[in-house]
Amino acid sequence: NVRVRFCPSPTGNPHVGLVRTALFNWAFARHNGGTMVFRIEDTDAARDSEESYEQLLDSMRWLGLTWDEGPEVGGPHAPYRQSQRMDLYKEVAAKLIEGGYAYPCYCTTEELDARREAARAAGKPSGYDGHCRDLSAEQKQAYEAEGRVHIVRFRMPDEATTFTDLVRGEITVQAENVTDYGIVRANGAPLYTLVNPVDDAAMEITHVLRGEDLLSSTPRQIALYKALIELGFAKTIPAFGHLPYVMGEGNKKLSKRDPQASLNLYRERGFLPEGLLNYLSLLGWSFSADQDVFSVQDLIEKFDIADVNANPARFDLKKAEAINADHIRMLDVKAFTAACEPWLKAPHANWAPEDFDQAKWEAIAPHAQTRVQVLSDITANVDFLFRQEPVEDEGSWTKAMKGDPVALLTTARAGLDTADWSDQESLKNAVLAAGEEHGLKLGKAQAPVRVAVTGRTVGLPLFESLEILGKDKSLARIDAALA
Ligand code: GLU
Repeated sequence: NVRVRFCPSPTGNPHVGLVRTALFNWAFARHNGGTMVFRIEDTDAARDSEESYEQLLDSMRWLGLTWDEGPEVGGPHAPYRQSQRMDLYKEVAAKLIEGGYAYPCYCTTEELDARREAARAAGKPSGYDGHCRDLSAEQKQAYEAEGRVHIVRFRMPDEATTFTDLVRGEITVQAENVTDYGIVRANGAPLYTLVNPVDDAAMEITHVLRGEDLLSSTPRQIALYKALIELGFAKTIPAFGHLPYVMGEGNKKLSKRDPQASLNLYRERGFLPEGLLNYLSLLGWSFSADQDVFSVQDLIEKFDIADVNANPARFDLKKAEAINADHIRMLDVKAFTAACEPWLKAPHANWAPEDFDQAKWEAIAPHAQTRVQVLSDITANVDFLFRQEPVEDEGSWTKAMKGDPVALLTTARAGLDTADWSDQESLKNAVLAAGEEHGLKLGKAQAPVRVAVTGRTVGLPLFESLEILGKDKSLARIDAALA
């Protein structure tokens, strides 16, 4: 039975890398009919925040990344917040010391730094040198009498660690590269290095899928796991798979603090959850050689951790938007109309809220569906319907404008005045005829009409737009442009 976990620390805003990790775990669990455990690693009181915790839950729900055990859902291994599991960590730490798997270390930071420097200067490995590994009871007492405090350090075995990474294949790390490491702070607070494997063991996690940045902690965790098995706290060592880095602008690792990395940004711009999930699943994985747009259901059916690529993945905003646009097109019109409404009804600069007209919106929505890549694009596309006056953009009058726009507009206005406004064809014929008179094809002839009525050079299909805006407003705008 597959059991995976997503175990973020509640610090800052959820970011793209974190969500990709959650997604791969979730897809792996769902593909295998397994269990998705959601655990909150909130053992760093100085950095953790309740707001961040709420945001994590909210983001997961928005994306549809459901969990079978975790906060607000509960489960057989509750609680799922590490801040509520301190007793377990204390018990394990005590047993580790008792069994000789870990030991108190009295070295001060200054001493450690000085010895590390000296080792470096001598060209030797600069990890912990084992100074406090085998202190006698007298030596410990002497340190205590000096008033020294101690951390708890885990004793690494003196042999190489080999494991098979689900993404990278066999990995061997030499003992000298992984030295004894801290598991409990001097103030008694357990560290990530301890609590993460202890909980993975307690929660019977079978597969650990996480970012490449954690690869270096895996040999340590495997050694700790072996101790936990001997002490009866764990049954087996889980399989590990390290997901590739996500690169941002300039091929640099996308950092949490990068504005481009913030999940909220994509949500606020109007990515659909399924569009964003589709794109994020391509960061290190591919659906097939010739298809990169697919449903969440397809993703679950196809996802295999063995197909994840170890090479860094590049975050490509243009591609993300194009994929999202495809998902927007796949919505049925009703769903699209409803999905846009939060953006239309939220306060924004494009028009006064009382000027919004639901009937006009519903009439124009089908024509807008293929024009937006993210839902927030919608306001600029339809604002001509709800503004008192079209947006002002001097540039629009010079862009792509052929011939004499005043002459053309004057003729077109006359034709439109006598056209049948309940029939787009009739509107089109009026502009077509005006174009013919001035030697312009329809495309060029409609440009000044569009700018006069909408203020923009590109937009929704013009004649549908005119019909929905209505004769009075449309002609008044052409008059204003001519004035
Ligand atoms: N809380 C850790 C983090 O957010 C989890 C790492 C892991 O998956 O082991 O980095």
